Amino acid sequence: MINPELHLCTKCATEIEASPIQKKLQSRNVVQYEKKIQELTHECKMKSDECYEAWMSLTDANQKLQNVTMELDNMIFQNETLERAVGREMEKFKDVSDKYKKDKKLWSSTINNLEKKIKAIKEDHMQLSQEAHDCANSIPNLNSMITAIQALVAQSEDLKVKYNEEMGKRKRLFNQLQETKGNIRVFCRCRPLSKEEISSGCHAIIDFDSAKDGEIGTVAGGTTKKSFKFDRVYTPKDNQADVYADASPFVTSVLDGYNVCIFAYGQTGTGKTFTMEGTENNRGVNYRTLEELFKIAVERKDTISYSISVSVLEVYNEQIRDLLATSPSNKKLEVRQAAEGFHHVPGMVEAKVENMKEAWNVLQSGSNARAVGSNNVNEHSSRSHCMLCIMVRAKNLMNGECTKSKLWLVDLAGSERLTRTDVQGERLKEAQNINRSLSALGDVISALASKSNHIPYRNSKLTHLLQDSLGGDSKALMFVQISPSDNDMGETVSSLTFASRVRGVELGLAKRQVDTVEQQKMKQMLDKVRQESRTKDESLRKFEENCQHLENKLKEKEQQCRMLQEKNKDVASQLNSNAEIQSQLDRKQCQLMEKLNGKEEESMMLRQKIKDMEQRLKERQQIESVSLHEKVEELELKLNVQSHSENAAKEKVKELECQLKESMQFQLTLEQKVKELESKLREHKESDSILILHSADRSRIGTPAEAKGSSSDESTSDTDPGILRSSTSINRLMTGRVSILHRGISPSGIKRKGEREHRISVLADDTENHSAFSTNSVDNKTEPMEINRSRKLDQAKTYGRITRTAKVVATHKLFPHSRIKKDQQTGIGVKEKNKVRGWAR
Ligand code: ADP
Ligand code: MG
Repeated sequence: MINPELHLCTKCATEIEASPIQKKLQSRNVVQYEKKIQELTHECKMKSDECYEAWMSLTDANQKLQNVTMELDNMIFQNETLERAVGREMEKFKDVSDKYKKDKKLWSSTINNLEKKIKAIKEDHMQLSQEAHDCANSIPNLNSMITAIQALVAQSEDLKVKYNEEMGKRKRLFNQLQETKGNIRVFCRCRPLSKEEISSGCHAIIDFDSAKDGEIGTVAGGTTKKSFKFDRVYTPKDNQADVYADASPFVTSVLDGYNVCIFAYGQTGTGKTFTMEGTENNRGVNYRTLEELFKIAVERKDTISYSISVSVLEVYNEQIRDLLATSPSNKKLEVRQAAEGFHHVPGMVEAKVENMKEAWNVLQSGSNARAVGSNNVNEHSSRSHCMLCIMVRAKNLMNGECTKSKLWLVDLAGSERLTRTDVQGERLKEAQNINRSLSALGDVISALASKSNHIPYRNSKLTHLLQDSLGGDSKALMFVQISPSDNDMGETVSSLTFASRVRGVELGLAKRQVDTVEQQKMKQMLDKVRQESRTKDESLRKFEENCQHLENKLKEKEQQCRMLQEKNKDVASQLNSNAEIQSQLDRKQCQLMEKLNGKEEESMMLRQKIKDMEQRLKERQQIESVSLHEKVEELELKLNVQSHSENAAKEKVKELECQLKESMQFQLTLEQKVKELESKLREHKESDSILILHSADRSRIGTPAEAKGSSSDESTSDTDPGILRSSTSINRLMTGRVSILHRGISPSGIKRKGEREHRISVLADDTENHSAFSTNSVDNKTEPMEINRSRKLDQAKTYGRITRTAKVVATHKLFPHSRIKKDQQTGIGVKEKNKVRGWAR
């Protein structure tokens, strides 16, 4: 049992009996304290409610902020993903665009090159077409020409064959004739006895009985002494025409291209000049020959074209004299060999004659020139060789054959033998030269007869000049002129002997003197034509090959052109596809850009919203924190005041204790009095119950044992209702606070909060990353750190404050069973700490 009138010492738990004054003071202070506590509890409750509401609104705001942040985070994440996708697409697009540009450049350059090539090919094609066209145009003319040439060649070949056949026949006949008659024909002509000879009593010694058979004999004393056989023997009765008739085949053979030599041999006065030249009424061989040559030339003019020229020479004392030379020249004329089988006298006049009149004039001028140099024409002519050379150039119009042949008509000097005693001086010299030249002629004929390898043509001017016409390829006719007079018996026999030796000399088969120069010219022309033809054929073949090559080239070029065109089409289609891809990419880019813009706008709006929210939250937090600070400060102030008053009360209690001690001392002294007064106190026990109860409470708090004992006491319910109220209100406050903490941050909430913190940190990082392309990264980076730091400070502060508040409450010995203590014991502090962090945020 606790005495209600006793006070329990706080230090020694000794029950002290309070004095009435003390009791009164205590009761008064308790009332004041209770009032103050009640007021403070009320205020605290109010503040707690406000804090609760603020906390709730803050929690909602935080929740909304969290949602918005999450949305923003999602949006930023999506935005980032989209940006990455856009970046990738942009890179792809850039790559494609670069590739497209490169391809475009490449293809454009390729197309340009191809266009140039196509242009060049077209130009080549045009040129080739033109060439082919020209070629095609020229081919018909060429073909017609070739056809005409071929026809002409065929005709020519035909004529050639015919001509060759004819010429063969003629040759065969001529050769048969030659074989029967010999190569050098010797005709013997005997002049009649001249009037002087008859008058002087000369007798004819020539027997012409067998003249028809070509036999002639000398008669001496009525008997035939000697007989000579010739090709023909002319009696004095035979006229010039008869002689020429036999000579005509020889002279006309010059028109067929044979070299012919006709000369008159015999002593002076035997009729050599008469036979060769004749007289005005009896033209000789020369005149008749020319006459017949022109006649035949005219006859043959359709088939053969003749060119006749005449030279007149004189060989005197082994000197050649040109009788047609208009002016005398000191230069000696010499025989030169121009080509094989052709000798000529350089500088010799060759008078071209078209008809007999011209020829006759030439012959006359030659005779006149011969007469100038001598007083006695006949004597002079007897001592020199008079030589008429008729050169014939013939061109066969049918086969183009050309011949160049010579006909020598020679009136030889007198062959009489002169002894040295008969002549002297110039005459002797003349005689010697004549003898030498005639001997040389004899030697040549002998050499030809004996078929000697060496024919001594060069031994005399006469034989040298006659070389072409006195050889194996020519025809020769000798007129042996004899005198019938017996006075010339010796000379006549000598001449006949010489002539008979000459006859029968085989000169070999005559050969036509084809004009080798012309022939060579023709050959050359033919070769040239053949060469040209070959060249033309070759060029034609080359041209055809070239045409073929060009056609092939053209085909190749066309093929290339087609390939290039196809390639060009492919390139164009590729370009189109590229352009389509590019347009698609453009559209996609536009869409992405639109999306990005939309997202950016949304992001901007969200950021703005966040900023607004943050601003609002900040403002609210500021306002709330300011108000809370103020309130807390007020509360702290009040608590301080209360603590001061409590301290004062403690001091007073101490004083009271001191007083109690004093009183205890006084009590000890008054122990006895106490015992005495015990009875009296028991009597006043009931009246002083309130005071006793108070004393009992105090004693219960002070002594656990007593408190234990009184815990089951139901007097607790009898305590001051105000004190109980204040106790429950504080308990409720703390419970509410804890509940608020529980409500604000549940385990799932803590978890979510952790995630949210993580997300916020990610967001901070993202914001940091994001701000890299939007705002200053340093500011954005430092801001969350400052927020965290301020957050930590706020947490610490808040925690400190709450702890302090809790301490204040805990130190308040009035609430020994408060929930705060329990919560603190069950680790609610951590949650509270978290709650405080969340609140601070
Ligand atoms: P050569 O020239 O040989 O010295 P020519 O020709 O001068 O001899 O002849 C001498 C002469 O003889 C001339 O008067 C000529 O008329 C004459 N005569 C020569 N042959 C005949 C002949 N066959 N018929 C008639 N007279 C002739
Ligand atoms: Mg004569």
